[in-house]
Amino acid sequence: LKRNPGEGEFHQAVREVLESLGPVLVKHPEFCERKIIQRICEPERQIIFRVPWQDDNGAVHINRGFRVEFNSSLGPFKGGLRFHPSVYLGIIKFLGFEQIFKNSLTGLPIGGGKGGSDFDPKGKSDNEIMRFCQSFMTELYRHLGEHTDVPAGDIGVGGREIGYMFGQYKRITNRYEPGVLTGKGLDWGGSLVRTEATGYGATFFVDEMLKVRKDSFDGKTCVVSGSGNVAIYTIEKINQLGGKVVACSDSNGYIYDEQGIDLQLVKQLKEVERRRISAYPDAHKHAKYVAGGNIWDIPCQVAMPSATQNEINGNDAARLVKNGCIAVGEGANMPTTPEGVKVFLDAKISYGPGKAANAGGVATSALEMQQNACRDAWTFEYTEKRLAEIMKNIHNLCYETAEEYGTPGNYVNGANIAGFIKVAKAMVAHGLI
Ligand code: NDP
Repeated sequence: LKRNPGEGEFHQAVREVLESLGPVLVKHPEFCERKIIQRICEPERQIIFRVPWQDDNGAVHINRGFRVEFNSSLGPFKGGLRFHPSVYLGIIKFLGFEQIFKNSLTGLPIGGGKGGSDFDPKGKSDNEIMRFCQSFMTELYRHLGEHTDVPAGDIGVGGREIGYMFGQYKRITNRYEPGVLTGKGLDWGGSLVRTEATGYGATFFVDEMLKVRKDSFDGKTCVVSGSGNVAIYTIEKINQLGGKVVACSDSNGYIYDEQGIDLQLVKQLKEVERRRISAYPDAHKHAKYVAGGNIWDIPCQVAMPSATQNEINGNDAARLVKNGCIAVGEGANMPTTPEGVKVFLDAKISYGPGKAANAGGVATSALEMQQNACRDAWTFEYTEKRLAEIMKNIHNLCYETAEEYGTPGNYVNGANIAGFIKVAKAMVAHGLI
């Protein structure tokens, strides 16, 4: 706490992982001798930089940029960039720390990192977004490379922003290096399924948890928070698996549609027109928009938080359980507070923590890197099959590790322990660096 003052989200993420690791350290004294815990909590490198840019009226703005290169034991630093006004070092460090274990769980050769800026993309013109992205990359490029550090998208950063940053990287370095960023456009090095991957992957993970309960999505009432990239493709896959999503949200409120959310309309509003979901009832009079409402008030059997950190607190979790929720799959990173997690674990519902459940996005980014490295482009069907296999493997690894360590059904312990051991072994093998 003294070493990283004021970084609440980072403390929360570290505490949650360390609480699982006691039995591992007893079994592996070499991890203590080599001070793995102390080293893994300290980023290899943190970069903080000024991002000046001009708006359409010529006014000058200054934002702060971050890249936290947390751990490269398993591969190049890998993790998204977040553009949101709430961004500060504590958020980027929590995300980067989670990313180490998430990336380890994918079984693919990627280390952990995260970055972003306190820039607010809301209400900015396309040209303003472009100028900001160019300025951001003008500093960041020197720290990146396909074998060094490979960013992707996150909140506020989608295909458009990745395109502007890739263009600037190419211009400055004079290198067409597709493996330096993932989430690229399909015409210039992107991978099919990357856009869908986090939402699809989280839904596959929940499907695996439901199978353990000898159950399925078929006929289930579901609630998905958020209405961004992860939420949209979570809704799509739930629909394909026979579930019905009755609500989604944004930071201003939620939509409730008892007939099932009209995904085409949400896509049109969010992906094409870049509008807010409050416009949904204009097209569907029977649906209601609840400004400032709490989406977790809505009874459901499956909840998939897909917006942001700490969006489900202890009371929300208790209400979900009371209302009959049997499975929670986190599309977002750390969306449940520690009090909420305790409620889910005590109630013994199927609870898939973000670092396992939402690993499909980064896994498909690693598949994008594989395609870039061999100058290939796989079909949608093949790539989705790989994603489904990866999510099944992550599920089974977490499930089996939880059993091995005496906490059957506890995916939190399973994910933390399995993710940690692989990284710790690599750190021991690489010596004291
Ligand atoms: P988007 O920017 O596409 O969408 C974010 C959604 O969450 C929007 O609906 C947004 O509403 C809402 N939201 C954001 N911040 C807040 C907040 N402070 N309070 C309430 N709602 C908020 O981001 P993504 O869908 O990509 O990311 C969503 C989550 O998934 C994040 O936690 C991210 O880290 C995680 N994730 C994303 C991956 C990816 O591949 N994109 C991979 C793994 C995890 P509004 O428009 O009102 O801000």
